Parts: sequence; C-alpha cells; structure tokens
Amino acid sequence: QEFIKALPKAEVHAHLNGCIPLACLQELARDHAFNGGSMTAEVQRGLAVLETGVVLSEISDFFGLFPAIYALTSTPPAVKKATQAVLASFLSTSPPQCQYIELRTTPRKTPHMTAEEYLSTVLDVIESFEGRAALILSVDRRMSVDDVSRYVELAKTLKREGRAIVGVDLCGDPLTGNMEDFAPILASVHDAGLKLTLHIAETPQNDEPDTLTLLSAKPDRLGHATFLTPAAQAIVRREKIPVEICLTSNVLCKTVPSLQDHHISDLLLHQHPVVICTDDTLPFRNSLFEEYALLLAPPPLGLGFAEVEVERIAREGMGTTFRSTKD
Ligand code: 5GP
Repeated sequence: QEFIKALPKAEVHAHLNGCIPLACLQELARDHAFNGGSMTAEVQRGLAVLETGVVLSEISDFFGLFPAIYALTSTPPAVKKATQAVLASFLSTSPPQCQYIELRTTPRKTPHMTAEEYLSTVLDVIESFEGRAALILSVDRRMSVDDVSRYVELAKTLKREGRAIVGVDLCGDPLTGNMEDFAPILASVHDAGLKLTLHIAETPQNDEPDTLTLLSAKPDRLGHATFLTPAAQAIVRREKIPVEICLTSNVLCKTVPSLQDHHISDLLLHQHPVVICTDDTLPFRNSLFEEYALLLAPPPLGLGFAEVEVERIAREGMGTTFRSTKD
C-alpha cells in the first residue's frame, strides 16, 4: 500500500529480543554453534517454534519463547549483530517502516557480559543511527526490587553521560511482582529527565490495585492498557496518557477476542492519544506497515478507518515519542 509506506511514522513499542529478524536469529544460532555454544534441547525447540510459526493459547505461553532467544544473544558480538538487524529492519528498508524508533530492551548479564556491557553494546548501535533511534531501558516485573533499583539508577547514569536513552519501561510476565515496591523507584526516573512507559492492565487478572499503583508512578505512556477498570480509565483519560497499541500482538496473545473488539476503537472514539506499534515482530511475524494496514482494511480483516483518519493517527503517534514530549 503506497499510502501506508508514504506515511511518516514512529515505532515506540518494540522489544529488541522480540524483534530479531528470523534470518538473523538463524545466523546467530550458526555463530553460537560455531563458537562452541551448546545447542540445548530448549534452544533447538525454541528455534524450531519460531521458524515454523508461533501459536499461543494464552499470553503466559509467550514468555517461554525468550530463553531460547536469550541463549543466542548472550555475547556482545551477538547483541551487536541482533541490534543492527533489528534497527535495519525498521529504519533501513526502502521506504523505512518508520522515521524514528524507541527500541526497548531489558539489561541482561550473562557469563560473557555484564548488564552495563549489554546496554553499552545496544547503545553504540542505536547511536550509529544518528538521532533516528533511541533506547528505552526495560525493567522486568520478575526482577528483585534491588535489581529494579540498580537498573533504574543505571538508566539515569546513562542519561547523565549523554547516551541516547529516553526512558524506562516496565515489562515481563504481567502476573508477577509487587508493584507497591516498584512504583516509587519507577517514578524517580522523571527526576533524571527520563520518561516512563509501563505495560499495564495487560490481562484480566491485573487487578485494580496493581493498575492504580502503577498509575501513581505518573507514566508518560502506557503499553496495551487493555483491561483498565473504570477508576483507572478515568485517570488515563483525564491525564490523556498516550496508549501504545499492538493490534496483532493482542490478538495473537488472545488478550482481545478479535480485532473488532480491540480497545483502540473505544480510545479513538474518545479522542484519546494512541500510537501504533509492533511489539515483537519475531514471534508475531508482523511489521509496522501491516499494523497500519489493519487500520485501513475493511472489516472483518481490518478496522476500516478512512485514510484521513489513519494519517491523523500516524501524525499524532509521532507526537507521543519521548523526544517530542515536553517535561
Ligand atoms: P528484551 O527486553 O529482552 O529485548 O525483549 C524481550 C522481553 O520483553 C521479554 O522477555 C519480555 O519480558 C518482554 N516482552 C516482550 N513482549 C512483551 C509483551 O507483550 N508484554 C510484556 N509484559 N512483556 C513483553
């Protein structure tokens, strides 16, 4: 669709290890084996699933895909190769899928690198794209409070050092972690001039206290926000907190029954700011072009929005980036 390709777009909800192009992951598997890395049954199984196509019965199945990917991105050269391939898939296609990307990733230490080395490797690649890419540092709900604290401080240090970091994210299995402990730590990113985005109300089991506690950290954007209770919804609407929308991801993870039932329709009905994103292009086999095509295609394949509306969504999405929002 020429119309979609020509639209200026921003991608702000893409997870590095969830967006490695399949060909790159296969190359990483060959490098791993060549360098004497063990291809455990778990890695082989994970790779086979990603090669044949992922079918999920529920969102919790999804998190089981990552150990195999992580085994293949456990050294600085592998992380560099993966980051280059991910950014090229968004920014170096002709035309590019987006004009600007905020790529998020969770710091990880392995026997071959520290978490600092991991982030520095990712940032070196991001910075080589000269202002077209920036980092959001993710902390995972499964982390200890000490680790969340340590990584948030690391994000602040990187920002002070002038690295291309714009924000902090909370991701990971939505049913884990005590958000009472995390919220004040997450809120503190604002003092360092960083922005905050949170995966929130992603499943029906995310109860109101969990969501309200996260909202107390004053997030600047929200990921998914599928199951906001009326009280939470009132805050999100009043504060006009932009919602990162991942249509394919939500349908495949079965957190929405179908595209037609997706909460984007209600958000747009209330003129609420949204931004269209891919989430994890490796398991979901989607692209930003395809996500926009879903907006445009007539039902039942898509949501049937007019071109003028889709153009407005793309333009307003550009306005939700962490480099464009004011403090
Ligand atoms: P990484 O942070 O390692 O670059 O990207 C993969 C990680 O992102 C996964 O381990 C998972 O914690 C997180 N992630 C990816 N997609 C989603 C999602 O849809 N929901 C949540 N809550 N976390 C996700």
